[in-house]
Amino acid sequence: MNNRHTMHETFSASLWSALTPETVPAQPLQGTETCDVAVVGAGFLGLSLALHLAEQGARVVLLEADEVGFGASGRNTGFVVPRLKGSLGQEAVTRLIGADYAQRLLRLVGEAGDGVFDLVKRLGIACDAEQNGFLAPAPSDATLRSVEKQVREGNALGQPLVALDAAQTRAQLGFGAYRGALLVPSGGQINPLAYVRGLARAAQAAGVTLRQGRVTQIEADRLQAGSAPGSGGWRLSVAVGEGGDRRSDDSSPRTAFVRAARVVLTTNALVGQLRGDVARSLFPFAGFQIASQVMPEAIRATLLPQHQPMADMRNSPFALRWSRDGRLVGGGASIFPTAGALPRMAEYFAGKFNEAVPGLPAIRAEFQWRGVIAGTGDFLPRLWQSAPGLYAPIGCNGRGVALTTALGRVFAAYLNDGDARALPVPLQAPKPFPMHALTRFGPSLWLAQARWRDARSAR
Ligand SMILES: Cc1cc2nc3c(=O)[nH]c(=O)nc-3n(C[C@H](O)[C@H](O)[C@H](O)COP(=O)(O)OP(=O)(O)OC[C@H]3O[C@@H](n4cnc5c(N)ncnc54)[C@H](O)[C@@H]3O)c2cc1C
Repeated sequence: MNNRHTMHETFSASLWSALTPETVPAQPLQGTETCDVAVVGAGFLGLSLALHLAEQGARVVLLEADEVGFGASGRNTGFVVPRLKGSLGQEAVTRLIGADYAQRLLRLVGEAGDGVFDLVKRLGIACDAEQNGFLAPAPSDATLRSVEKQVREGNALGQPLVALDAAQTRAQLGFGAYRGALLVPSGGQINPLAYVRGLARAAQAAGVTLRQGRVTQIEADRLQAGSAPGSGGWRLSVAVGEGGDRRSDDSSPRTAFVRAARVVLTTNALVGQLRGDVARSLFPFAGFQIASQVMPEAIRATLLPQHQPMADMRNSPFALRWSRDGRLVGGGASIFPTAGALPRMAEYFAGKFNEAVPGLPAIRAEFQWRGVIAGTGDFLPRLWQSAPGLYAPIGCNGRGVALTTALGRVFAAYLNDGDARALPVPLQAPKPFPMHALTRFGPSLWLAQARWRDARSAR
């Protein structure tokens, strides 16, 4: 039974759902379909991968349990940020994955903003794309030093990052008393649901078979019995017509199948029980979002006047952007992310908007929604190989709009030519967290500590 549609499910409550009415119809899977690559999950990553594979001539079946963009891709803030989370720079990334991978990953990330906006242009996706730059204001001397370091390192890699002084920062933001800011000119913002649906239409036009159905099991294909698991391909069991399939007229529950030479899980944090080793190698954490009432023209003209999204460099960042229809959008994580936390968090973030930006009318959270982010602990993405021919690229840690689009393209190239030397992180077996059940407390502890550190450095 599909248990995602609980009373706390908020996909259709988001601002993006209201601004993006046209869904992408996907026929339920019937019988057995055969393909070269089965991709599981129609978010940015699955769609970018499927699109690029199909453009290279592969037969691709893309399976989605719910609807296109149902995961984090349809619910995020739409910041296109060609930077790793946590301002991870060359030194730290080199320590984690070695110099060669670090060089490739940082280049891939640095180019990922242009990658999104170029793809949007090439495919003609109407998603309110604005490549006006991303701002990371620095609230302290220490974060200002980090800005300078990031600019030096970025420029050495050929990325035109810019350090703004306090006056320039205030002019770009229209509020606040920051010490300076990092401006990432190739960043910007999109309507994420419109982007992910546009990718789905483009993937279908390129020949991808998009099917509705929840993959419940992946097993070595029995027709090749006796061979090593996966070497003869994979068989996916897919639940179709479950009670929760709101998007389909077809309501008779049954199992259909896909047979594929290779399988890529792009299920992100929603992997559930499908593949235990992958599920235990990440920790999911909730993100909460609000969109305000439509703001008066005078405020729209002076606050973030260039429509640059901003997330400051606090450990628990304050983040804000405009929507196309003149609402302020932002949010973050919660220390107590219980099922009913949304109204409490909506009130909290509305208060934050008023606290950070003097002169706003009292903020009402007219739209409130939540989503799940896949964390990896060190803020780096992973390319898991769970078995031969069974992969799971995963874990963009809240920076997935640009990075998943880029990873999809790069992983498609790898599946096409088998050359692992271009991959930005090692392809390796999943590394489950020891005592994984306890990781669910990790984000709350981390956030409590982050807020405490922010409060201490503000004194
Ligand atoms: C609240 C929030 C705010 C964020 N803000 C930003 C931001 O501003 N900028 C940024 O860069 N990143 C942001 N992120 C992160 C970004 O949204 C993600 O990194 C990115 O969307 C992940 O894309 P994905 O394709 O890997 O996974 P997802 O979009 O999560 O897609 C996974 C898909 O797999 C499907 N699925 C799962 N299991 C199965 C199954 N068994 N069978 C079939 N289908 C299945 C799901 O239904 C889902 O559609 C945010 C995330 C959240 C939650």
